[in-house]
Amino acid sequence: MEFDLIDAIRARVNIARDDVVLGVGDDAALTRLAPGRQLVACADTLVAGVHFPLDTAPEDLGWKSLAVNLSDLAAMGAAAAWALLALTLPRADVRFVESFADGFAALARVHEVALVGGDTTQGSLSITVTALGMVPAGEALTRGGARVGDGVFVTGTLGDAGGALHQLQNHATPASTLLARLNRPEPRLAEGMALRGIANACIDVSDGLLADLGHVCAASSVGAELDAEALPLSPALTAAFDPATCRELALTGGDDYELCFTAPVSRETEIAAKLEPAGCRATRIGRIVAGAGMRVLDAHGNEIEMTRAGWEHFSR
Ligand code: ADP
Ligand code: MG
Repeated sequence: MEFDLIDAIRARVNIARDDVVLGVGDDAALTRLAPGRQLVACADTLVAGVHFPLDTAPEDLGWKSLAVNLSDLAAMGAAAAWALLALTLPRADVRFVESFADGFAALARVHEVALVGGDTTQGSLSITVTALGMVPAGEALTRGGARVGDGVFVTGTLGDAGGALHQLQNHATPASTLLARLNRPEPRLAEGMALRGIANACIDVSDGLLADLGHVCAASSVGAELDAEALPLSPALTAAFDPATCRELALTGGDDYELCFTAPVSRETEIAAKLEPAGCRATRIGRIVAGAGMRVLDAHGNEIEMTRAGWEHFSR
C-alpha cells in the first residue's frame, strides 16, 4: 500500500539530474556536490488546518510545500538541487497523492529539483519537505550582515497572499491573482543568486515583512526604518482593500515568499540590472539605522503607530 503511494509520487516527480548517484529506493540518497560548493539545507512542515486551510487543493499543497522550502534556499543565494518529501496521510488516498505529486512536480521541474527520497506514514495530514541546494563556498547570503546606511529592498509585491487569506476567512472570493499568490508562491531563486556579492543580508518574507526584517535586524544588531508609501503593492491588492489595510497586509501578512535584503544604496542601479533577467523588480522601502527595532514612517517622515492588536488581526 505504502509502496503504491511511493511509486505514484516517483512516477510523477521524475526530474532527472546527473548529480544524483542514487535516488528513491535505497535507504538513503547519494548526490554529488560540485567542487568549491557548500551544501545548503532546510526543511519546513505544513500542518493541515494550521499552515493551510483544510480544503486546499492537493495540487496547490504539492506546489506550496516545495515552494516554501525553495524560498529558504533563495534567501541564502543558493541554487536548488534536491528535495526529500515526508508525507503523513490520514489514509492511503492514491488520488490525493497523485494530485499532490503533480503540483510538487510542476514546481520541481521549473527549478530542476530532483526528488531523491522521503518517508510516507499514516497520521494527521502533514507535509515536511527538505530542500537541498548549493552555493559557491563562502558566498551564501545570511541574516547577519546588514550595515547601518544600507537600503532595505524587497522583491515583487507584498500582502497579496495575506489579502487572499483574509478574504477566504471572511467568506469572500479573492481575485485569481491574489489567490495564486497564496497557493502557488514563486520562490525567488534566480533573484537570490543574482544578489550574491551585492546584498549584505537577506531573508525570505514568510511571516510578514516586519517579523522577518526584525530577524535581520536582530541578527545584524541594527534597526530599520520603513517608508509606508514605498511598500510595493499589486493592482489586485489595491483594488480589493483600502490603503490602510493594504499597508497592514504588506507589513504583517504572511506567505509572501519575496526576498527582503539590505545593500548599499550606491548599488541600486546594479541591483536593478542584475535582477532584470530574473523578471522581478526590487523596490527600496527603507534603510538600516543604528540601534534596534523597526519604525514605519509616513510620507512626512512621521512614525505610524502599529498596534499589536493590528498585527494580530491578521496573524494566523
Ligand atoms: P525505509 O524503511 O528505509 O525508511 P521506506 O519504505 O520508508 O524505507 O522508503 C523506501 C524508499 O522510498 C526510500 O528510498 C525513501 O527515501 C523513498 N520514499 C519514501 N516515501 C517517499 C516520499 N513520500 N517521497 C519520495 N520518496 C519516498
Ligand atoms: Mg522510511
